[in-house]
This record gives sequence, C-alpha cells and structure tokens, in this order.
Amino acid sequence: MSDTVSASRERLQALAKARRQGRPLRAPGTSHRDAGPAPELGQALAAAVRGEVRFDAAYRAIYTTDSSNYRQAPIGVVCPLDAGDVAATLAICREHGAPVTLRGCGTSLAGQTTNATVIVDISRHMREILEVDPQRRLARVQPGVIRDQLAKPLESEHGLSFPPDTSTHAYATFGGMIGNNSCGAHSVMTGRTSDNVVSMKVVLHDGTELTVGATPDDELERLCAKSDREGQIYSALRALRDREADRIRERFPDIPRRVSGFNLDELLPEKGFQVARSLVGTEGTCAVVTEATVKLTPWPRSRSLLILGYESIFHAADHVPDVMETGPMACEAIDDVLVDDMREQGMEADKLPLVPDGKGWLIVEYGADTREEADAKASAARKKLEGDCVATHMYDDPQDENNLWEVREGGLGATAYLPGGADHYEGWEDSAVPPEQLGSYLRAFQKLLDRHEYDTSLYGHFGQGLVHCRINFDLRSAGGIQKWRHFLEEAADLVIEHGGSLSGEHGDGQSRAWALDKMYGPELVAAFGEFRRIWDPEGGLNPGKVIDAFEPTQNLKLGTDYNPPKLDTRFNFPEDGGHFAHAALRCVGAGKCRDSSSGTMCPSYQVTLDEEHTTRGRARVLFEMVRGEVITDGWRSKEVHEALDLCLSCKGCKGDCPVNVDMATYKAEFLHHHYKGRLRPLPAYSMGLIMLWARLASRAPRFVNALTHTPGLRSLVKLAGGLTPHRELPRFAREPFGEWFARHTPRHPTGTPVVLWADTFNTYLHAEVAKAAVFALEDAGCRVMVPDGAVCCGRPLYDYGMLATAERLLLRDLDVLRPHIRAGVPVVGLEPSCVAAFRDELPSLLSFDEDARRLGLQTLTLPEFLLDHLTDYEPPKLHRKAIVHLHCHHKAVLGSDQEIQLLEKMGMDVEAPDFGCCGLAGSFGFERDKYELSMKVGEQRLLPAVREAPADTLIVGDGFSCKTQIEQATSRRALHVAQVLMMAAEHGPDGPAGDRPERLYPDVP
Ligand SMILES: Cc1cc2nc3c(=O)[nH]c(=O)nc-3n(C[C@H](O)[C@H](O)[C@H](O)COP(=O)(O)OP(=O)(O)OC[C@H]3O[C@@H](n4cnc5c(N)ncnc54)[C@H](O)[C@@H]3O)c2cc1C
Ligand code: SF4
Ligand code: SF4
Repeated sequence: MSDTVSASRERLQALAKARRQGRPLRAPGTSHRDAGPAPELGQALAAAVRGEVRFDAAYRAIYTTDSSNYRQAPIGVVCPLDAGDVAATLAICREHGAPVTLRGCGTSLAGQTTNATVIVDISRHMREILEVDPQRRLARVQPGVIRDQLAKPLESEHGLSFPPDTSTHAYATFGGMIGNNSCGAHSVMTGRTSDNVVSMKVVLHDGTELTVGATPDDELERLCAKSDREGQIYSALRALRDREADRIRERFPDIPRRVSGFNLDELLPEKGFQVARSLVGTEGTCAVVTEATVKLTPWPRSRSLLILGYESIFHAADHVPDVMETGPMACEAIDDVLVDDMREQGMEADKLPLVPDGKGWLIVEYGADTREEADAKASAARKKLEGDCVATHMYDDPQDENNLWEVREGGLGATAYLPGGADHYEGWEDSAVPPEQLGSYLRAFQKLLDRHEYDTSLYGHFGQGLVHCRINFDLRSAGGIQKWRHFLEEAADLVIEHGGSLSGEHGDGQSRAWALDKMYGPELVAAFGEFRRIWDPEGGLNPGKVIDAFEPTQNLKLGTDYNPPKLDTRFNFPEDGGHFAHAALRCVGAGKCRDSSSGTMCPSYQVTLDEEHTTRGRARVLFEMVRGEVITDGWRSKEVHEALDLCLSCKGCKGDCPVNVDMATYKAEFLHHHYKGRLRPLPAYSMGLIMLWARLASRAPRFVNALTHTPGLRSLVKLAGGLTPHRELPRFAREPFGEWFARHTPRHPTGTPVVLWADTFNTYLHAEVAKAAVFALEDAGCRVMVPDGAVCCGRPLYDYGMLATAERLLLRDLDVLRPHIRAGVPVVGLEPSCVAAFRDELPSLLSFDEDARRLGLQTLTLPEFLLDHLTDYEPPKLHRKAIVHLHCHHKAVLGSDQEIQLLEKMGMDVEAPDFGCCGLAGSFGFERDKYELSMKVGEQRLLPAVREAPADTLIVGDGFSCKTQIEQATSRRALHVAQVLMMAAEHGPDGPAGDRPERLYPDVP
C-alpha cells in the first residue's frame, strides 16, 4: 500500500472516530463551501481530503458538461492532491452512497465526464511526471500530466515521444487518454493509448489498490490462488477470458482504430493477460488510475510534409491504402467544406494558401533522422502518388508544417457555428473503418447524410480509417431529436457493414454505448458488463456510461426543454444572432483555454490551474445563469461574479478560442446588469473613470504627480481608489498632448489628411508617444488633425461594465468625428485597445448607427495606416534588433502583421515571441486584490524574456498597460512603434549609441 493511501486511511479512521464522538468534521485548510444538494457529503469530504472540495453552485455549474451534447449537474467537485486524496474521496462517497466520475481536462465528446455524481478532477494537482527512463524508453506519470508536458521535452532532449497525440494534445491528460483509449495523427506509428501503456496503479471503488500490467502465466496462477480481493478479481477475469476467448477473436474487428467496447482482447493468452491495457478505454467505469507507466518511442529528428489534393474527399479516401504503403508517420485528411468554412469565417487566413488545388486533401508526414532523408522519403512518395492527385505540394519549413497542422486541427472550430447557418454538433463524429474500405464507406455515409438532409464536412485520421464530422442535427425539437435517433441507427449499421468501429478514438460514453449490441452482439456486451462488475460491483464509478448507459437522447444539453429567455442586452452580439443566450452557449468545451504553454488565452487559468478561471468555466457559469436551474439569481448572481472576477478582459479568448468566445464582452455585459442601481467596487470609479481624472489632473499635473508619489499621501490615494500599494501610479505629462498640438505648426498643411485619435493615455500620460506619432505621420507627408475637445473610446469603462457611460462617450465621439467619418478620413489610433474598441465594441454597442459602423472600418493602427493607406511609403531605416510585445487586444482583434511588417521594412531584426498577456491588462493589475495574479501572469513569459534581452535591443510595445508592466517589473522600458520611427528618423540607420536606447525617448519627460 502506498504511503499516501495508508495516510488517507489513517485520516479516515480518525474522522470516523470524530463522527462517532460528535466532533466537527472539518479539517483545517480545506476549501469546502457549505452549499449544494448534499451538504453533509461535502462536509465529510472537506474533512477528509486535502485538495479542494467545492459543492457550491458555481462549481456545479462549471462541471455540468464536457465537450459533448450532454449536461448533468454534478453533486459537487473534488480536486484531489494525490492518490491518498482519491482513496479518501472514494471511501467517503461510498459511505454516503454517492457515485463518482473521474475527469481530466474534460474534452470528451461522448458525455463520459458529464454526470450527476461527485466529479473528481485529477487535472489540477496530480500532474507530476514521476520518472523518465530514456534508456528503457519508459515514463511514469500521474494521471493529470498533459500529453505534451511529457512528450515535447522528450522529443527535443531525447528524440523520444508518446505518439498518440490527440488534437487536444496540449491540454488532454493521461488519465483522460487512458480513460478513452485516445489516439492521434501519430497513432499510425505505435497505435492507440492502450498499445503504449505498460502498467498502471489503480484504486477501486471499494478502496482496493492494485498495480496491473501484463501477467505472465505463473504470475496469473499465483494471483488467482489468492483469496483476497485481488485474487477474486484475477480469477474472475481469467474465467471471463476463458469463456469468451473465441467470441472475442471472432467478433472484435481487426482494424487500427477499434476503440468502442472494452479491451477484453488484451486478456487473451496471445496478448499476455495485459490487465492494464484491458482497463484502458473503460472511461472511468471500472477503476481510478492514479499512476501510469507508458512506453516511449523514438521520434524522428526531422519531418517533411506532403499535401496531396484530390477531386473530392472520396478520391482522397480511395487513395489512403497506396499512401500508407509509402510508410508515413501520419496521414490526415480535410475536405473543401472545412476549408471553405474557415475561409468564410476568416479563420487561419494566412495559412489556407498553403492548401493546394483540390476538393479533398491528404496531409502526409514523413520522418527521418535528417532533413535530407525526410525530404527524400516525401519526394519519393510524391513521385509515386502524384498521378492520382490534382495537385501536390511538399513543405519542409517547420513553420509551414505547423501551420498546416493547425488548419487540420481547426476542424472543430471551423465547423461548429457557421455564420447565418445552423449550429453543427458531435453525435456521430468518430466512426472508423478499415482504411481500404474508407472510400466506399464515405460515399455511402454521404448518401445517408443527404437522405436525412444533413450537411457536414469530412476530415480526420484517414491513415487509420477514422472519420470526424460535425453535423447540423436539430437537438432542440422532438422531431429533430427523433430524426437524429433514426440517423444514428442507420449510421451504426453502415459502419458495422464496413467492418468498422462506432468509435475510433473518442469512446462510447453515452452517445454510442447503445449501439455496442449491434457491433459486438449481446453476449460480448454482457461480458463487458461482467468485466465492469468484477472491478466495481456496486456500480459506483461513472454510472450510466458505456455499460447500462443512458439513451443517447437523454440528458441533452439542449433538448426540448431548452428555452432560454431573450435577455435585454447593451451589446448586440451580432455573431450570435443578437442573443446573449447563444453567446453563452458558444463554448464547445474543446479545452484550448487550458493550454498553459502557448497563446494568450487564458492567463488567469495559466496561473491558478483552476477550471473556474478558464474561459470555458466562465462560459459554463454564464450558460447556467441563463438556464436558471443551477444558478438561479440571474444577473445578480454572486457565483457568476466570482467566476468572472479574475478574467483580465484581455480578449485572448476572442482571438485564440476555436469558436471565438469573447469573454471580455460577456463580462462587461454581466457587470453592467449586476451593478445596475448599486455601488461598484472602488477601482470602477478610480480606474474606470480614468478619462475624467486624467482631464482634471491635466490642469495641475505637477501637483497631482507630487500627491501620488509622496510617501504617505500616495498610500492614501491608492487606498481610496481600491488600488494595490505595490504599484507606482503612472505620472501625468507636464503638458498634455492637446496643448502641445495647439502650438504645433503642421509640416504639410496640404498633405494626406489623417485624424490622430488622441486617447486618454497618450494625451494625458504618455504624451510623448502622441507627439512622436505626429512626427512620424508628418514625416510620411500627412496633414494631421486631432479631434477637438476631450474624447475617449471608453475602453476602461467596459472592463467595469459601465456600459451606459461608455455609450454616452461613444455617441459624443461620433458627433466630434462625424465630418471626418463621412469624408472618409482615416482615424489612426495609438493605443491598440482603443483601436480594438472602435472595431469591436463600438459596432456591437451602437449597432443601429451607420456612422459607428463606418468609424469601425476607418480606424487603423499607425502601421496599418502607413503601410496600407499611403502609397509608396518608405519608413526610415533602423538596423537594430527588436523584441516586440503586442497588446492582447491587438492580437485578438487587429492582427499583428502590419506592426511586424513595418519594423521589418525599417530594416530591423524583429522577434515577436508568443509572450501571452503582460498581466496588467488595463487597470486589472492595479487593483488591490489582483496585483499578485497580475505579476504571476507577467512572469510566465514576458517579463523574464525582457530581462534577458540584450541591452542594445529595442523592446517594442504599443499598449499602455504592457509598457507600464514592463517598466515597473524590469529595468527596461518598451517604446511605441511611433517612437521607434522617430528614433530612426533622428539617429539614422544605426540608431543611438549605447545600451537601453529607450532612455532617449521617455514617455513622460
Ligand atoms: C476538438 C477536439 C479534438 C479531439 N481530438 C481527438 C483526437 O484527435 N484523438 C482522440 O483520441 N480524442 C480526441 N478528442 C477527445 C478527447 O480530447 C480525448 O479523448 C482526450 O484524451 C481526453 O482527455 P481529457 O483529459 O480531456 O479526459 P476527460 O475527457 O476528462 O476524461 C476522459 C475519460 O477518462 C476518464 N478518466 C479521467 N481520468 C481518469 C482516471 N484518473 N482514472 C480513470 N478514468 C479517468 C473520465 O472519466 C472519462 O471517461 C478530441 C476532443 C475535442 C474536443
Ligand atoms: S472557451 Fe473556447 S477554447 Fe475554451 S473550451 Fe470553450 S471553445 Fe474551447
Ligand atoms: S478575456 Fe482573457 S482572461 Fe478573460 S476569459 Fe478571455 S482569455 Fe481568459
């Protein structure tokens, strides 16, 4: 017995004693909230478990669904620290008669992590790689370890990997992959997860702890002779195997992607009675995995990608067997519907040109030790295969290869919500057939879809015969659901006729369990049930899934009772047909917001690893708020407020999420209603109204700066504003930009007209940036105009949900700008979040106003204006290195191309690494209770990289908050691109001598 399990037993005994003596059960340091439908269970768990125990409405809402069509509110949620906590949870739940469902990243598509049970989330804490043995090619991991967390460093350091790489490889856990028997593009190399598991430690529902793996005959004899629980399990398994062996050999389809059903074949003598592998794919219904030892496989150092274009996806499918003969390490497919859907939605726009002519494509990858060998393999294959293709192309630049993989992996996002069309769902998305049957299967499948008047795109892991698709099922009306059910019957028959498997990697859950009878026959399905009862006789683990499963039409997330109210909103939610309810439904649960290694989304989760702080968790809470069952107090809900509180409004999700969930906007809408008629927290007034304070401060900036920087006084100011004592408040410019501009003599009174948007930050604080912009625009021959009077896009107001005030400001902006808007004069913004506000928030808030729409189209960043609007613009040269950090709103709403292009056109050596969010995010990091998180976000990637940058390298950043964060947390300061242009013009191509060149261009002199 492991130390942690025995420690937890001791704790349990102590608790039982306390209960008998009537002493309180709560243990110190637990985080149980007294709420939910089973408060006593919650309390008992909180006393026994060292990890989090949350039975409150917020957590129950967050875990109601996974990435499937199903929804069931759980009893509560436990995030165990270790195997001991798992054992303690099982014991308490068993004592209280509460079933348990395990969960990793929750990206399952068949409903297997959605259940009205206690949810045990092993992904938060149990994420330690316990051992890596490159010599023996083995790794030992806890179940919460993410596939890429293990595989990526191994690939670069040891040339080894774990080939089953789900499209969710950057966030799916080993526990989940083992639960579902997951596969991926590179399963072509070594098969499914089950084929790569060596042994596992498991805890059973009754508390038995076992280590399982292959069982040599003598060991099997020994175990079966034991009289304890272990002996009973082994002899029952052997008896089951002996009875069913012939049937298993006869009825289990011999195809690469048989994932439906349980792996009883692993118990056959010819497979070595591999008990661990027989448990892989049981979807948390038999045992809880607390540790796994997995096989590692040599990973080619170099790879080369061949893309083959065909007349149709069916022709592509026909060609798969020939392609597989060329020995690829992956063979994936996409069709023209998917590519067109992406194009229509502007997704991956820069990557789609990599796809050659055709209407169906195979993306085929070859690996070898050297680039030459990989290229040679791909070239030879191309020569052999191109006769059957309409176009082919070979890529050997890793960036192009990554881009093509992203096109393939973007399948789900591209096909879920088509603008102006019906929503598309999983529900028959994972069938697999023998690869040689793929063409015939797909043609018949298309006919079936046509007969039911469904549409879809077809893509997937074709090299192993697996087809993915999202279909426009009607899951909201009785007729639609009935039609779907009929379709499922025929679709299952079709797969089985072709010798296939209902599921090729996603598992059966509740979507496909009903059809196991068709695939295996009643005797084997009964054997699956017996297998499950051997491990879990009481059925306490994940009831209603795979075995004795719910009907596929039960517990639907939508269903015939889905009837959300039409909520009156300030934003118009144009991508969601004007409905907040649809926006709250938008998240498809794919889990990308839990990728803590790349991208911007979701900075709060990257620090806390708490599902509540993912974009997905927030979306779930909003969905449940609209639904009104788990969260019942609508816009006033404290739970929703809590879940949204640490959202930095960075819009990372709008840019990175495959279905563009825009949590910053949902949060602004929520806060608007939440605080209606009530006082808001102090920072809403101190920072949300910064445009007002800045204007007042500009009358006596020296006095205000003295006030906010004098010891004692500054603490009072921060205290009054609800701000952190750890940050210095920004200094106001001694002369606001407007006053300077009024004195300024234009260099080109008849030049190209342009309006410079003098935002609050670059007018009253970093006025030198606005002056540099005037300099750069005039250098380019422009006549610069600045709006009269104080204008502001209201950006800080959105973050606090002060939407009525924001609307008033926007209407005033339109009044001021109307002559320029109607004359078509471009408006150049310097602060990326202001440009984003005009392009994004403005047309959604004032959707009735044509001038608002026009202004959105006419507002540009400085680089966009210089490069796209001026003909023959030649920037001044500057031969320096630059590291560029783009504001999150810039990346999410505006795109980064022009900023980089401009700097490159200047002759700069530009790097723009994926730094994520700076952490300050507007005024977020100034708030008293957000400072710590803000710093942790910045310390993830950006701040260490800035500290490491050579002293003569320029740090370029346009966002006020990013610049402030860098300035306050490092010894460097970032320059706005306008200041970089000015530096080049003033100092010539070599720039100023000496280190830290930014010292010559202060934002506030
Ligand atoms: C966009 C998208 C793309 C996908 N692409 C692929 C793909 O290419 N290939 C593929 O195979 N799948 C794919 N999937 C499905 C899913 O991502 C994988 O099955 C993944 O491995 C699940 O991992 P998870 O951590 O999310 O597990 P979860 O969904 O949390 O859990 C999966 C199952 O494992 C069980 N489980 C979790 N932890 C344990 C444990 N410790 N002990 C016992 N049981 C446990 C759960 O109860 C559940 O039944 C995709 C899903 C989405 C949304
Ligand atoms: S918010 Fe977006 S990225 Fe996160 S789970 Fe939902 S769909 Fe996926
Ligand atoms: S806006 Fe940023 S912090 Fe908020 S949910 Fe989206 S990615 Fe996360």
